[in-house]
Amino acid sequence: MSPPAVSIPRLFQEAVERPLRRRVSLRRHSSFRIGGQADFFFAARSLTEVKSCLRFVHERSLPYYIIGSGTNMLFADGGFRGLILKNEVRGINRIRGEGRVVVLAGTPLADLVSFALEDSLEGIEFAAGIPGTVGGAVFGNAGAWGLSIGQLLEEAVILDEQGQETRVGKNHFEFGYRDSSLKRRHLTVLETVFRLREGDKGLIKAKMDENLAKRKSPCPSPKMAYAGSFFKNPVLPDGTRMAAGSLLEKVGAKELKKGGARVYPGHANFILNCGGATAEDIRALARTMKARVKRKFGIELKEEVIYLPAGFSMP
Ligand SMILES: Cc1cc2nc3c(=O)[nH]c(=O)nc-3n(C[C@H](O)[C@H](O)[C@H](O)COP(=O)(O)OP(=O)(O)OC[C@H]3O[C@@H](n4cnc5c(N)ncnc54)[C@H](O)[C@@H]3O)c2cc1C
Repeated sequence: MSPPAVSIPRLFQEAVERPLRRRVSLRRHSSFRIGGQADFFFAARSLTEVKSCLRFVHERSLPYYIIGSGTNMLFADGGFRGLILKNEVRGINRIRGEGRVVVLAGTPLADLVSFALEDSLEGIEFAAGIPGTVGGAVFGNAGAWGLSIGQLLEEAVILDEQGQETRVGKNHFEFGYRDSSLKRRHLTVLETVFRLREGDKGLIKAKMDENLAKRKSPCPSPKMAYAGSFFKNPVLPDGTRMAAGSLLEKVGAKELKKGGARVYPGHANFILNCGGATAEDIRALARTMKARVKRKFGIELKEEVIYLPAGFSMP
């Protein structure tokens, strides 16, 4: 039987040697700025802390969920009945004389992009401007302009439910468009190895600047509260990929609002929290958007943003 909730922080302190925070608002850990309180919250700063924390939750069958920067998450209004583990374990190390770079999963993707520029390594220019951590990017195979992080990944160290660490090759992740095997079996990514190429620093910088500039026109200001594209671009039966934003625009989604949430008037695949939106506002708006596209085009849009229900438990 699991111990009473009140003793969990004490046991956690003994096991992990740092305090577990109680009743933490998830709003502050989400780019949507939405979410109720998590019963327990821990921001891990070392691999040892991540592993001890996961051992702790597994031993007690305590529901948990790992997050990076929360830039692709919609937390429930009711918060989370369990422990949120925020991965803040950072570090980048280039293997001497090679284009291979070892990156801890809690490292901001932006740090990897800056590191590549400093070291004149090319291949990751597409990621300039994508927020979040490397672990989050691997989970969703984050990308832009037809390129994605999975194409650069060579191997990774993952942690399974038994606390077993395994080094796996890129094929383990079965990368697809905004998809990886982690969406079906949610293991924890601890460390990643990317293969980049020696390049010309000036050209790399120019490509990054160009990509950052291209982002400015269709996207809301990064200061606004949202989580990037809400829906994935659907693939038609003949294999062509449609822009979800253009389908949504054709069904008048840019006019839609619900409570404090509204569709961004500049691009219909962004849902903004304009102040005080609840997760239910966002979800209701998303349902309307999906229903309109389904009715007019017979296409089922699929969410790119991850919704975490308050009672979620790892399968
Ligand atoms: C302004 C803005 C622009 C964006 N632009 C893009 C874009 O161009 N392209 C794009 O692809 N996305 C984009 N996004 C979405 C988001 O930035 C990416 O999906 C990002 O990779 C998420 O990283 P994160 O650390 O914030 O993950 P989180 O949001 O914290 O988590 C997302 C998922 O990853 C999982 N996860 C996180 N870390 C780990 C780990 N170590 N091991 C296992 N699972 C883990 C979580 O459990 C969760 O399921 C944008 C978002 C914003 C707000």
